[in-house]
Amino acid sequence: MDGHANKEKGFLGWYFNSNLLARILIGLILGATTGIVLGVFPQAIKPFVDNAKFFGDLFIRMLKMIVIPVILFSLVAGAASIAPSRLGRVGVKIMAYYLFTSALAVTIGLVFANIFRPGEGLGIIGDAAVKGKAAEAPTLVQTLLNIVPTNPIESLAKGDVLPVIFFAVCFGIAISYVKDSKIKSIAKGAEALYDVCNAAAESMYKVVSGIMQYAPIGVFVLIATVFAQQGPKAIGPLLLVTIVVYLGLLVHLIAIYGGLLSVYRLGFIKFLKGANEAMVTAFVTRSSNGTLPITMRVSEEKLGIPRGISSFTLPLGATINMDGTAIYLGVCAMFIGFAIGQPLTINQQFTVVVTATLASIGTAGVPGAGAIMLLMVLESIGLKVEAGTAVASAYAMILGIDALLDMGRTCLNVSGDIAGTAIVAKTEKELNLALWN
Ligand code: ASP
Repeated sequence: MDGHANKEKGFLGWYFNSNLLARILIGLILGATTGIVLGVFPQAIKPFVDNAKFFGDLFIRMLKMIVIPVILFSLVAGAASIAPSRLGRVGVKIMAYYLFTSALAVTIGLVFANIFRPGEGLGIIGDAAVKGKAAEAPTLVQTLLNIVPTNPIESLAKGDVLPVIFFAVCFGIAISYVKDSKIKSIAKGAEALYDVCNAAAESMYKVVSGIMQYAPIGVFVLIATVFAQQGPKAIGPLLLVTIVVYLGLLVHLIAIYGGLLSVYRLGFIKFLKGANEAMVTAFVTRSSNGTLPITMRVSEEKLGIPRGISSFTLPLGATINMDGTAIYLGVCAMFIGFAIGQPLTINQQFTVVVTATLASIGTAGVPGAGAIMLLMVLESIGLKVEAGTAVASAYAMILGIDALLDMGRTCLNVSGDIAGTAIVAKTEKELNLALWN
């Protein structure tokens, strides 16, 4: 018996100590292989899918569980960490840059998805019983209005993401002002509130990373199911959606960051040379937050950005500026529309620009957070991820390859923070230009 217990411990020990990304990739490959093999034995597909469903649904439920708490605490803590004195010129400039580039990023994602049409022809259908239940998509104006909650507690309870984002940012900024209150007890209370929200945000990141420990199993089951049902014909669309996301990331990096930097007469190659350590770290860790210490260091040492600016803009960027995620959200929303045979209309695409920009703000800088926000972008265009629907199957396909997409998007997320910070520092005449020559 002892021996048995030891063995189990050994496996669990291996499981939890080995590299998560490697395990997810193993899950992906094993899942695809299992699914394709199952395709050879059609009579085995249904029993497999029925039994595996539980494990796949479990993954999706856990992701849904964490959406609201992560956004709430991460944004309240993020906004509350901005000193009111910083909300002035530098604050306005960096916010304008962050919002503008994120909206551009979604648009780039949508344009490429319209050109390459990933997922088209897959023809995924859901269970007959739930198939007809298409949700109604709100109009764009309504979506904009709905960003402002009439009752924040109701939005929290109902899981309405956009109003929660709006409220969390207002609340956080208010805390940062109240921290400076002349009434000592109130200032102390606000400080404590800030600490609590910060600790709560960290705790939620811990929960997310706990859920990610399950990802290899979730990915295995979801991908095996996809391949069992679709056969090898699923490989092409998955490959295409990956290529389209990476193409969008690359174009954004070169055209938008390169272009903006050159407008401010900063060399793009110099930028890449200075930022590459942070970019590589982001690529492998898949976490903007985790990369932050390196982002801060290279910005100062290699790109000559003073701490006074970067200590404000970079942590803010790691919390709210996610251009890579924005591209991913645009492309994947389109993929899911194509895959289920309901290509997004122009109106739906406009809605995606708005909701994906805001969703990227609400995305926490931890691995896998973007996939959580995709749920909400889909909902905003009337595609609800509910067990048994075609949307859920298409979403499962994306979840299966999410780790691969996460690497690239996190790399761009971090690059965008550094580029924006360099530009703001330049306009403030605080950039050490000797390092750029
Ligand atoms: N992993 C990304 C980041 O940390 C967020 C995402 O999942 O999109 O920037």
